[in-house]
Amino acid sequence: MSHTISASTPVAVVTGASSGIGAATARALAAVGYDVVLGARRVDKLERIAAECGGRAIPLDVTDDDSVAAFAAQVERCDVLVNNAGGALGTDSVAEADLDDWQWMYDVNVLGTLRVTQALLSKLVDSGDGQVITIGSIAAREPYKGGAGYNAAKHAVAALTRVLRLELLGQPVRVCEIDPGMVHTDFSLVRFKGDQAKADAVYEGVEPLTAEDVADTVSWVATRPPHVNIDQILMLARDQTSAQVVHRREA
Ligand code: NAP
Repeated sequence: MSHTISASTPVAVVTGASSGIGAATARALAAVGYDVVLGARRVDKLERIAAECGGRAIPLDVTDDDSVAAFAAQVERCDVLVNNAGGALGTDSVAEADLDDWQWMYDVNVLGTLRVTQALLSKLVDSGDGQVITIGSIAAREPYKGGAGYNAAKHAVAALTRVLRLELLGQPVRVCEIDPGMVHTDFSLVRFKGDQAKADAVYEGVEPLTAEDVADTVSWVATRPPHVNIDQILMLARDQTSAQVVHRREA
């Protein structure tokens, strides 16, 4: 797909933009005037969302060095990077943890965020007002039973993000961590490896956040004046007060 980026239009790159929070974020940033570059592995979905918001779809696997390099090479300018690609696999106890699941969570969430941030950092600096906005999770703030692998990965994402903020002090790049609680997306379907009944049960009787709620927050953060850095946001549904404390209504 050919697409020309004008010199004056800021560019936002969104990873994991083929569904959920990433797709909603691409739409929200396009609506406030960004040229949006969308990355993910499922190119058919990515292209559909890119077409909806006038953005550019580029295949991206954040776990693959070559894929990240090829992706970054096609991004001429980057004003905002939204590190959103990620997710959880499994709810096993530590005693029964599946090492492959942990490896996947670490690679996608932690090393994926690192790879893409490294690849685009010089362009963020060159923009003169760059922003890195990373989607963490309540799992980064609060360990919970069955969450150890995802907790460990998102705690690491939070550490990376907060260290990046420290290391970029004095550079024209802002850094923000947005930590949502329960959001109704394909997140639980992925976590339960395609078991729709288990995924649906997570949201039963609850009014969770929507992908659009989180996207709205990303858009708000991105549109603050250049001297304002929103460092961290924890956002939860009214029906949720901590990782596993949720109010459920009778059907
Ligand atoms: P989702 O609908 O499953 O979206 C996950 C996105 O990540 C998809 O677009 C997926 O695209 C992408 N992705 C996965 N592996 C990738 C890889 N190797 N390379 C590139 N992209 C990859 O779930 P979501 O809720 O929107 O999740 C978005 C972010 O929010 C994640 O970081 C998640 O941990 C975080 N989060 C979610 C919730 C929640 O309750 N939903 C709460 C807190 C935080 P492809 O499969 O096409 O590659």
